[in-house]
Amino acid sequence: MTDLEIAQATPMEPIQKVAAKIGIPEDALEYYGKYKAKLSFDYLKSIQDRPHGKLILVTAINPTKAGEGKSTTTVGLGDALNRLGKKTMMALREPSLGPVFGLKGGATGGGYAQVVPMEDINLHFTGDMHAITTTNNLVCACLDNSIHQGNPLHIDPTKVTFKRCLDMNDRTLRDITIGQGSKANGVERKDGFNITVASEVMAALCLADDLMDLKERFARMQVAYTYDGDPVYVRDLGIQGAMAMVMKDAVLPNVVQTLEHNPVLIHGGPFANIAHGCNSVIATKACLELADYTVTEAGFGADLGAEKFLDIKCRLANLQPNAVVIVATIRALKQHGGVAFEDLKEENVDAMLAGCGNLAKHIDTIQKFGLPYIVAINQFESDSQKEIEALENWCKENGHPMSLSQVWAKGGEGALDLAQQVIDLCDQPNTYAPLYDVHASIEDKINTIAQKVYGADGVDFTDEAKAQIETFNRLGWNELPICMAKTQMSLTDDGKIMGRPTGFRITVRELRPSLGAGFIVALTGKVLTMPGLPKHPSALDMDIDENGKIVGLF
Ligand code: ADP
Repeated sequence: MTDLEIAQATPMEPIQKVAAKIGIPEDALEYYGKYKAKLSFDYLKSIQDRPHGKLILVTAINPTKAGEGKSTTTVGLGDALNRLGKKTMMALREPSLGPVFGLKGGATGGGYAQVVPMEDINLHFTGDMHAITTTNNLVCACLDNSIHQGNPLHIDPTKVTFKRCLDMNDRTLRDITIGQGSKANGVERKDGFNITVASEVMAALCLADDLMDLKERFARMQVAYTYDGDPVYVRDLGIQGAMAMVMKDAVLPNVVQTLEHNPVLIHGGPFANIAHGCNSVIATKACLELADYTVTEAGFGADLGAEKFLDIKCRLANLQPNAVVIVATIRALKQHGGVAFEDLKEENVDAMLAGCGNLAKHIDTIQKFGLPYIVAINQFESDSQKEIEALENWCKENGHPMSLSQVWAKGGEGALDLAQQVIDLCDQPNTYAPLYDVHASIEDKINTIAQKVYGADGVDFTDEAKAQIETFNRLGWNELPICMAKTQMSLTDDGKIMGRPTGFRITVRELRPSLGAGFIVALTGKVLTMPGLPKHPSALDMDIDENGKIVGLF
């Protein structure tokens, strides 16, 4: 059965019943139909002084292009913890329609470890993506209008840094010209779109404490430079109030359920390669206040999502993580050992063992953050017994805690051992600390990430990047954490280099201030903030019939 068929075949419980399990009263819910709700503002406020439960991060090795099962493991582990009688919630990201129609699929888990209603969550859900897109494009419309209406802010139309956005993979919008035609159509200038999940509005939402904090973050966003080279901010345009108004519901976290009827908060969804890759602080904190255990995930491998979770999110939101689950698949390890994507189903113990260097590097990274960890082997049907045993032995020989996870096939029952080990890890003391001092120079911070997390020898900055660093230093934008934009496929900035490479350098070609989010984005390699569709987009296989039944949504 497909993920969608499994989801459709499982009856859901009314959302108030699911919420009640964790002690959320009915009047705390703003309903979006029977199975989706938002937590009300008043309720969030009423729980904010409660002590926090344990925080577990699910991360992974560098993935294949299909994804390695972090969301699936997060959901299955949460269900398993609930089965063991632990009050547990999960905090996940909202899927973007880009990958839904593209290649990878949604972000609601898979098999018997899923979040439902999966069709709704993967499509328009409660409208958060729409609100984020609108808020972003309000800035662009007002900015171009200001230029058109006599340009009182002296904005240089060639130095507008804030782009339009759309929640779609559409490569034709990367570089465009707007305002063509008559004078009444505005001032002609070059522009471009980001995908919504790479927008600063999304990042700001995910790092904000509440709506008023979000409004202040909006006001701080830098959008352009004047003809004199001075920065122009959203507050100069005067629209932070309108932006916050558009976000009034989107700022509230969404409650849904797993196939085993456990409560999950899904809220915010920045990509981890081009953005910071973590669901909202508001949702994570609400889970920590409500549950004894919170399981959350950060996108792609530990070089991207986990690094940003631990260096950006936990630092800025003052969160204390307790344990990390590193998901590894035999398929991806074989790819790191040199096997082509098409051949990953064939048994190849030697290639898998050769690829274990990649896993070892991510373990090393989590150790550097001072956190206890466990390797979760996400079992696929194509994994052979020999391969599984060889990987288990590799973990044992190298002293890495490990558990075989079968959540895709069995739901929570497939991760009872993993859950028990995670409980034990959470009881261990840890020495978590971010990897770099936020007051260090921009170059030093990027070097620390490249050397300690990617295993690089060092970092080269293009002339453009160097000039930007000088500008950022002059404007006092340097004392912020760094959000690396890098391919998810490799530890290097070249997506084709597999395994655990050594003797390489990273090239930073551009820096972008995300002052509202509160970090500096460093772009490496060819990574793009507006993806394209593959030759055979998933959209070609999707349909809906006269009864409203959807097919082909994974
Ligand atoms: P990630 O969060 O790492 O990107 P997901 O959990 O979203 O990965 O899973 C990506 C896809 O892989 C989903 O379609 C899911 O159903 C599938 N998948 C995950 N684990 C398994 C497994 N053990 N067996 C088969 N398919 C799996």
